[in-house]
Amino acid sequence: MKFDYVIVGAGIAGLCMAERITNVLHKEVLIIEKRSHIGGNLYDCYDENGLLIQAYGPHIFHTNDASVFSYLSTFTTWHEYQHKVLSYVNGEYVPFPVNLCTLSQIFHEPFTKEKAQQYFQKVQQDPQSCKTFEDIAIASVGADLYEMFYKHYTEKQWGMPCKELDASIFSRIPIRLNNDQRYFSDRYQGIPKAGFTAMMKRMLNAKMHILLNTDYQQIKDEISYEKLIYTGPLDAYYDYCYGHLPYRCLRFAFETHDTPSYQQAAVINYPNDYDYTRITEFKKLTGQEHKHTVILKEFPVQEGIQCYPILQPKINAILAQYQRLAEQEKDVIFLGRLANFKYYNIDQIVAEACKCFAQLCEKSDA
Ligand SMILES: Cc1cc2nc3c(=O)[nH]c(=O)nc-3n(C[C@H](O)[C@H](O)[C@H](O)COP(=O)(O)OP(=O)(O)OC[C@H]3O[C@@H](n4cnc5c(N)ncnc54)[C@H](O)[C@@H]3O)c2cc1C
Repeated sequence: MKFDYVIVGAGIAGLCMAERITNVLHKEVLIIEKRSHIGGNLYDCYDENGLLIQAYGPHIFHTNDASVFSYLSTFTTWHEYQHKVLSYVNGEYVPFPVNLCTLSQIFHEPFTKEKAQQYFQKVQQDPQSCKTFEDIAIASVGADLYEMFYKHYTEKQWGMPCKELDASIFSRIPIRLNNDQRYFSDRYQGIPKAGFTAMMKRMLNAKMHILLNTDYQQIKDEISYEKLIYTGPLDAYYDYCYGHLPYRCLRFAFETHDTPSYQQAAVINYPNDYDYTRITEFKKLTGQEHKHTVILKEFPVQEGIQCYPILQPKINAILAQYQRLAEQEKDVIFLGRLANFKYYNIDQIVAEACKCFAQLCEKSDA
């Protein structure tokens, strides 16, 4: 089989590239996907009761990038949803990330911005001396809040002590000195009105040939191409020649409940209780009305669906070896979360794909 463009992976990264190549360059593409569906981890579907569920955990689109929002808006309208999360702490449901309402509820007294600043000044240290997650967390929020919200959640999530985790993980979580209880503060937020899969189906066209249930590694000798866009795992592409790049995985447990509403918010974190990290109730994300509801419990595990790259110095060394091999490839583009061994949000992936396509066009013009 010979195609000008072959794309491995029908996740959002692969589909954005396929959409650009077919619609702008008017070329045919072959997309090879090992799962039985398109969409990668953004895949959602209707269950037997007609409830829309997200098969690989809760996904909320959020961005400050107007061009990414505008690009995706050509394939969907939006359910304008602002994500809010509660955390179950000391027997109470409190807003998370930490903001003035959280502090007031936890300490049972009103917190103003000034009072919160005084509180944090008492506990904060010089971040220069902070190397691990534990160092930076205690230095930023103090030992009490660290223990309540971060320590046990993070250790459950990553399966290792916070003392051994990189400080950079902490910087993903904001701390707010106002009453903003939203999880994200981006300008554009929402869920595609008919779901992520419906949005991605609208990206497809007749110039795309999709092979589902097909692992590229199994058929690579039968395929030739001018350009390969590879969005699968980097270590798998090189047959794990330098060893595995490890991921923290998740096991997803879905439950249907015979009630219109299960919990107070779309997502509730359980930092200190139970083996799962959080419970999502999909109707509260999608706005769907139904007499039943579906919830999802996420259990972090060693093996399963590869979700979060485990970043450690010894792993960075292995990654660098693979990256050196990848840099030498002339006809292969490595794109997406698995090929870059990096956690990306949806908007970052779309922006990367658009950048990658622009570079491809520049090279083919030259
Ligand atoms: C639990 C969880 C929640 C998240 N929530 C959010 C959120 O709320 N908001 C947000 O912006 N981002 C969120 N993300 C991030 C988001 O999931 C990713 O940015 C996005 O899915 C990455 O798209 P991708 O195309 O790079 O990878 P993927 O979606 O993983 O797609 C890669 C595809 O390649 C296929 N593939 C791999 N190897 C092969 C092979 N050898 N042959 C054929 N096919 C192959 C895979 O089956 C997969 O379909 C979340 C991530 C996780 C883990």
